[in-house]
Amino acid sequence: MSQRKHLPSIHVPHHKNTAGLETVVMPVPDVVKICMSQNIGAPCKPLVEKGDYVKVGQRIGDVDAFVSAPIFSSVSGNVKDIVQSRGSMGGFETLVVIETDKKQEISEEVVAPVIESFDDLIKAARDSGMVGLGGASFPTHVKLNPKNLDECKYLVVNAAECEPFITTDNREMVENGQDILDGMKMIMHHLNLEKGYIGIESNKPDAIENLKILIEQNEMNDVEIVTLPSSYPKGAERVLVYEVTGQVMDAGVLPAQLGVILANVSTIGHLGVYFKTGMPIVRRRVTIDGDAVSEPKNVFIPIGAQIADVIEFCGGYKKEPRKIVMGGPMMGRATMADDSVTMKNTSAILCFSQEMAEVKTETGCINCQRCHEACPFGLMPSIFAEAYENHDVDMLNRFNVMQCMECGSCSYICPARRPLSMTNKMSKIMVKEASK
Ligand code: SF4
Ligand code: SF4
Repeated sequence: MSQRKHLPSIHVPHHKNTAGLETVVMPVPDVVKICMSQNIGAPCKPLVEKGDYVKVGQRIGDVDAFVSAPIFSSVSGNVKDIVQSRGSMGGFETLVVIETDKKQEISEEVVAPVIESFDDLIKAARDSGMVGLGGASFPTHVKLNPKNLDECKYLVVNAAECEPFITTDNREMVENGQDILDGMKMIMHHLNLEKGYIGIESNKPDAIENLKILIEQNEMNDVEIVTLPSSYPKGAERVLVYEVTGQVMDAGVLPAQLGVILANVSTIGHLGVYFKTGMPIVRRRVTIDGDAVSEPKNVFIPIGAQIADVIEFCGGYKKEPRKIVMGGPMMGRATMADDSVTMKNTSAILCFSQEMAEVKTETGCINCQRCHEACPFGLMPSIFAEAYENHDVDMLNRFNVMQCMECGSCSYICPARRPLSMTNKMSKIMVKEASK
């Protein structure tokens, strides 16, 4: 890969407090609540009924739609109820509530797939239930099957993990490096891809070292590690594609249109495991951190575990939590209560006290232009804010608000503490509404 100019980025405190902590397994809780809406696309319908006995790896939710991914039980036990609950986006979601028997009996459905062709691989990817584990939740079998597959040359593995606090991808690379390479091998072979790149921020030396050794041992001459500067948002899809391949990816363009199959590193690692064992995604590694948690950890959590149970496993709260974030502090989602449940895309649970969560008072814009300089795509958030206040859709369009990926860099850097990223989000909604 040739050296090229990097896109603008910002330096946020890394807070990678758990980077050196080996992942521990959380005991099976008394109850899990497995959500049927865990991917972009169609939500699943429950395949089980109240009173059914289910086992680990058993398919308990699915739907007949291409953009979807099945859902599996993470525990053995009895289905206690099937309920509707309000999700983090405000809509209602179906939850399958399972009372666990702690035996963790494995379902007879768990059988390693036979993969001899591209079609077998796509079927296996769907049967694994895999979605983008970095947070995007896009079904992986859809990503691996673009219309222009014959024009795709590269597999780009997103291992940047640029959000503060989160260290799950880092631990995946340190603890499960061979699974990642096994997943890459299978995908590159059946998709007929020429080259694999793993984009990793330079603040993960253990991960880089481990993968380098494994790539050599596996004689994978077609795989290269691309070390990226540790700055935010290097892991954003459009930024990573540019940093690795040099191609500019506009909003609305898919990586495959640029010849790239892009996937998160933990997604690839989990697929590597599925190809060998047939165990679908029933648990995932989650970083638990924040100043309100007694014992920050990386934890393997059964999908559907409630936050309160996870926090109890981490020694409980040491300060009253004022804000709980699922995902990273820059792009994660604040949750309403600690009875929220973990999903396939839950990379972190961050609990902050009043002191850490305090939102500083907004003041007037001083035209410093720091928000313009921070934007990876050279956008002008202060102009968007003005246009939004004036309901000026023409101006929003003229200054390309739809190119904003809501990374939060502009809000973070603004000395006036203006909620620019949120305003951009609202501006994009305004533009969409106006075009109807
Ligand atoms: S939130 Fe949008 S405008 Fe702000 S820095 Fe990120 S991409 Fe640029
Ligand atoms: S960074 Fe904040 S204060 Fe500076 S120009 Fe942008 S909106 Fe205004």
